[in-house]
Amino acid sequence: MKTEDTITGFDWKYSAAPEAKDHIKLKSQYDLFINGNFVKPNSKKYFATYNPATEEKLAEVAQANAKDVDIAVAAAKNAYDKVWKKMPAKERAKYIFRIARVIQERARELAVIESMDGGKPIRESRDFDVPTAANHFFYYAGWADKLEYAFPNRHPQSLGIAAQIIPWNFPLLMAAWKIAPALATGNTVVLKPAENTPLTALKLAEIIQECELPAGVVNIITGFGDTGAAMVAHPNVNKIAFTGSTDVGKIIQKAIAGTNKKATLELGGKAANIVFDDAPINQAVEGIVNGIFFNQGHVCCAGSRLFVQESVATEVIQKLKARMETLIVGDPLDKNTDIGAINSKEQLDKINDYLKIGSKEGLELFQTSAAIPKKGFYCKPTLFIGAAQSNRVVQEEIFGPVLTIQTFRTIEEVIEKANNIPYGLSAGVWTDKGSKIFNLTSKLRAGVIWANTYNKFDPSSPFGGYKESGFGREGGLHGLMPYLKF
Ligand code: ADP
Repeated sequence: MKTEDTITGFDWKYSAAPEAKDHIKLKSQYDLFINGNFVKPNSKKYFATYNPATEEKLAEVAQANAKDVDIAVAAAKNAYDKVWKKMPAKERAKYIFRIARVIQERARELAVIESMDGGKPIRESRDFDVPTAANHFFYYAGWADKLEYAFPNRHPQSLGIAAQIIPWNFPLLMAAWKIAPALATGNTVVLKPAENTPLTALKLAEIIQECELPAGVVNIITGFGDTGAAMVAHPNVNKIAFTGSTDVGKIIQKAIAGTNKKATLELGGKAANIVFDDAPINQAVEGIVNGIFFNQGHVCCAGSRLFVQESVATEVIQKLKARMETLIVGDPLDKNTDIGAINSKEQLDKINDYLKIGSKEGLELFQTSAAIPKKGFYCKPTLFIGAAQSNRVVQEEIFGPVLTIQTFRTIEEVIEKANNIPYGLSAGVWTDKGSKIFNLTSKLRAGVIWANTYNKFDPSSPFGGYKESGFGREGGLHGLMPYLKF
């Protein structure tokens, strides 16, 4: 692997530093985790999950059909009625703490599997996904016996059975985001990971078994969109928590219209990352890179639209290009890797289509000169310079390492441009002036706004969007509410 330092003119390279895989225990076939046991699917069908970096098959997982969903929901209902609802909150908390502790104990294994199944760099899964997943369980364990205190005089009560459907970009972390608050509030769960990345959720099922959670409190089933649709449609499900595409979010909303099922939807995004001329430019460049290129742009809150104040545009673009040239695209299990594999062939095809669309729209395309591996699904970090509001690459979510760059002159102009989009999940602001930050945070229609940093997460801080980015909040005290009735 080779990289050139274009800032200093040095030509240097890192030695490969691959993370070991020999400690990973993967079965060749995984069944459905229902009622505390791994059980064969009624469908009798299994499908393969692949390593997108090598295109190797990692394991086969069960494909749950409507009957399997029915069995999983029945297990969750039985556990809710007979055990979980009645259990003192402080006892529930102990189980949730236990899950957090075992995630920590098995962190290395989980991180490696996450990178193998999803393609994300090991640095990301090791230093962010897995520790943050454990932190979510710790955090919500703490709330379990304090709900009366969290919502004084409102007598919060659990809803019942939560159907939780998650995407492929943060498989374990999304499972934690969903399961931890549901359990803390006294609900039971049927969770479905994405079909591309089921393995860490199945490992979590093993952890849940190891923690001796009462049977049926958490059920983890695997399958495709039809499995998710059967979960949404099930009459005994009380709450739907979905993270994924806006298109599927709309389908879910239609499916539950007229029912009394509660829902939270965390959907797409197209975040504006705004750099003013008084910003610390080097830090901003680092924040831009972190916001869109790390994790292959597979982040719904990725800072995929860069707005730079005109007077510093040349400097920012030049520094950004130089920094991009130092990014290493390659083996997700190598600790030096900045940008791993694109999650699937379909996703890579979609990104490549957008690269064609942007070029046809007449935008200047910049890609780094780094070589990318021949096998596996990879995309070089890419800029579209000179973009305009009307460009499709500006308006539509690409979900890849592709950044559009627009310039602006005034605050009013950038607020209008940043908000002129169907999405409203997140945004970033880079400036020396606190007053400018406060001005923007009140006017940008985005659920999360970072100032002089980007993509920072904490279990105590709520996350969620406006407009077509969905509704409801996950994380923090707010994240308890969607699982409660008052
Ligand atoms: P992405 O584009 O991020 O893959 P999707 O919205 O297609 O997002 O998928 C997110 C999750 O939703 C996955 O677990 C997927 O299997 C599930 N899913 C897909 N279609 C449906 C549907 N019609 N109803 C419920 N879940 C679905």
